[in-house]
Amino acid sequence: MTTPNYDCPGCGRSWAADQPRWRCDCGSHLNLAPANGLSRDEITAGEASLWRYAAALALRGPPRVSLGEGWTHLVRRDWQGISVLFKLESQMPTGSFKDRGSAVMINHLIEVGVGPIHEDSSGNAGSSIATYAAAAGIPCRIYVPAAAPRAKLVQIAASGAEVRPIPGTRQSVTEAALAAAGESFYASHNWHPYFIEGTKTLAFELWEQLGFRVPDNILVPTGYGSNILGLGRGFDELEKAGEITARPRLFAVQAANCAALAAAWAADADGFVPFPAQPTVADGIATMRPVRTAEVLRSLRRSQGGVAAVAEEEIAPALAALGQLGLFVEPTAATAGAALTQLFHDGTISPDETTVVVLTGHGLKAADRIGELLGIAVG
Ligand SMILES: [Zn+2]
Repeated sequence: MTTPNYDCPGCGRSWAADQPRWRCDCGSHLNLAPANGLSRDEITAGEASLWRYAAALALRGPPRVSLGEGWTHLVRRDWQGISVLFKLESQMPTGSFKDRGSAVMINHLIEVGVGPIHEDSSGNAGSSIATYAAAAGIPCRIYVPAAAPRAKLVQIAASGAEVRPIPGTRQSVTEAALAAAGESFYASHNWHPYFIEGTKTLAFELWEQLGFRVPDNILVPTGYGSNILGLGRGFDELEKAGEITARPRLFAVQAANCAALAAAWAADADGFVPFPAQPTVADGIATMRPVRTAEVLRSLRRSQGGVAAVAEEEIAPALAALGQLGLFVEPTAATAGAALTQLFHDGTISPDETTVVVLTGHGLKAADRIGELLGIAVG
């Protein structure tokens, strides 16, 4: 395939994506240029992973590293009397949706000859990238909040990556990783355009698993918005290929205690607006400054969806209700259950529509915290 381009939304410059590059020289993030898309006859039907869509991925060749990521189950369950589809991204190789982005990004980095990498993460992206780096034989260092859930830190360290705990806020962790950008390649899931190239396969899977149709609504726990951006890009490509004519409404779900996108949405802004932040149990989406705020807002508006912010006290009951449906997820993922209830109650979503809830992370990631939240006394 021809080398894809990165476009800079800051200065308008384009870059060939044939070098290990994570941002523009002007300091802005970069986005992969629009692609041609995917038609159903290009799917490798026998491949039970996201690589069934390899024809639509901006890579030069077949994957050098795969752990079987993607092609996760879509299960129908009853939520408060209403039939809903749950997409089990929690059942990825490392227990979170991040594996879509990590697998595609790491394969791209192998193709462009990257050396040692580092990344900053609240836990799930760090464990995912550390795992794929290990599979690829690439040395890896992960900066994490000192207060991140222990299971996630153990998971990162078990892959052989160096774990660098940073005290203070999530932003302090990012700043430490940015400061190390001269020492090794900053393989940031929040900055690198190829991470979103991977998450776009979520759109393809939902479309294919629903019999080549799109749902009416998709709810996604959202911090930086890589799933919202991936869904937007994936549906763009299906539309471009003539495979779909309607688009699902996308709802970004945030914890009200730390809700950058909800604040921008409420202000009808085109980009980031300052907002007050409090601690939340939804540690995976406690994002102070999403890199692509403007793009996420555009994607939500284009879909005619929105942002749902859920109160802190609604998260544990949603977590309990999901668990009792056989869906053991981490508190971050449970925010989507709370949002589902909210959007049903206020009439935004109606019971006769096809609604998909993306469950982003496994409960085993945070079993101790879940035990505390649900008042479970065992052992
Ligand atoms: Zn630029």
